[in-house]
Amino acid sequence: MKVRVRFAPSPTGPLHMGGVRTALYNYLFAKKHGGDFILRVEDTDEKRFVPGAQEYILQSLKWCGIEPNEGVGYGGDKGPYIQSERKALYKPYADQLVESGKAYIAFDTSEDLERMREQAKEMGLPNWQYNGVTRSSMKNSLSLSKEEVEKRLDAGEPYTIRMKMPRNVDVKFEDEIRGWVTVNTNNLDDKVLFKETGMPTYHLANIVDDYLMEITHVIRGEEWLPSAPLHVLLYDAFGWERPKFAHLPLILRPDGKGKLSKRDGDRLGFPVFPINWISKEGETYQGYKENGYFPGAFVNMLALLGWNPGDNQELFTLAELVEIFSLDRVGKSGARFDPDKTKWFNQQYLRATDNSELAQQMKSEFNELSTYENEYVAAVCSLMKERATFLGDIFAEGDYFFNEIESYDEKTVRKKWKDDTTPIMEELLAELKTINNFDTENIETCFSAYLNKNEYGFGKVGPGFRLLVTGKGMGPSMFDICALLGKEKVINRMEEGIAKVNALKASL
Ligand code: GLU
Repeated sequence: MKVRVRFAPSPTGPLHMGGVRTALYNYLFAKKHGGDFILRVEDTDEKRFVPGAQEYILQSLKWCGIEPNEGVGYGGDKGPYIQSERKALYKPYADQLVESGKAYIAFDTSEDLERMREQAKEMGLPNWQYNGVTRSSMKNSLSLSKEEVEKRLDAGEPYTIRMKMPRNVDVKFEDEIRGWVTVNTNNLDDKVLFKETGMPTYHLANIVDDYLMEITHVIRGEEWLPSAPLHVLLYDAFGWERPKFAHLPLILRPDGKGKLSKRDGDRLGFPVFPINWISKEGETYQGYKENGYFPGAFVNMLALLGWNPGDNQELFTLAELVEIFSLDRVGKSGARFDPDKTKWFNQQYLRATDNSELAQQMKSEFNELSTYENEYVAAVCSLMKERATFLGDIFAEGDYFFNEIESYDEKTVRKKWKDDTTPIMEELLAELKTINNFDTENIETCFSAYLNKNEYGFGKVGPGFRLLVTGKGMGPSMFDICALLGKEKVINRMEEGIAKVNALKASL
């Protein structure tokens, strides 16, 4: 049997990174087993529908490189893949359950239900439920006479269809991650399967679609574990073979206290969304993409958030993840999110990425760089990447490769620019001018010869030299920097810089 899994988000807002992880694990599982990864949009909850959310989900998956091979935006022969477009097909399934006695028709209005809840609360029972105990006192096809039910239906009275939850049955199923799960039906209520609006609820639509789309494994977040017994009973009620279930552990906040929520990102200063999302109130929720993360690093981090490869390896390409992913290495307990580790992943990806590839990305990300030769930007990347976490760091820390020096690092001026620095710089400048072939090696030889001749230590000459050429107190090798900038720029900067730094020093 071919493995078929699905990612089934509801378009109720932007996709949180937990959702991306669910999609990722489904993707990895499908690819590993040569199966299909399907994207289905579950939009039966009309009240919570958020315009733009579906597009956001598609774009996010695309950016992450975890694209479905079937479903919304990808086609396939089991569509449509948006539940609202499948609306007409669910009712017969609900009717089938009513006919077989597994479900029933209920006429209670929302006011009726509210009244029952209130009454129960007054009697000290805060969690009133529509279930095997209470249903006989409600208005439904089990409590009313057949004639009465017919009369109401003929009059066009709105109704819902509810699951007739059996009393005192142990529902058992084996979760691929958690092992055997048993829940007694006395703890479950008569869930609405079909709403008076003509829409199925999540539960019914989800089961019918998983069946019709021939889903073999349901891999989803832990928050759906409480719904699983109902889903299992629905499969049984229809006489359909159950898929395998795997409920993924929660993603916890960095302090380990509670589930990572949409709001935590802003509060704690890291993104929780794959790409930026602007709410209809105009609020921006930060995305990994816009914060300079590589999709590969983000996905690599997510893969290890709840799953482990069994050894200490941490860096994986998507293809490697596909190769070794398995559900039996997914943990049961919550996975703590670590924003610093996420940065570390990005740093590793940056280091591992080819310089000319980095250069291309830099040029498309920063408009100011578009006119530079790829080779030059690549050489800057090669010098700067060891010290950077994001491409933006290379641009910010290496601004002197692209712009003239506008300011000098005050701390360095204060500490390292001494009274004798000016003559030393003038002498060094004179030496540098004599170099014909201004390459790394010759610059280094010239510089060392100057130190030796005067018996100067590096600390006496190096910082001033760096300050004049880059404006900074730190950075990669000065010989490499100078060779890349070229003789003319280096000489100019030194000539013009000495007076500027002296003026600054005097003002401090
Ligand atoms: N629509 C549900 C969600 O938003 C899907 C849950 C499931 O995968 O069954 O997560």
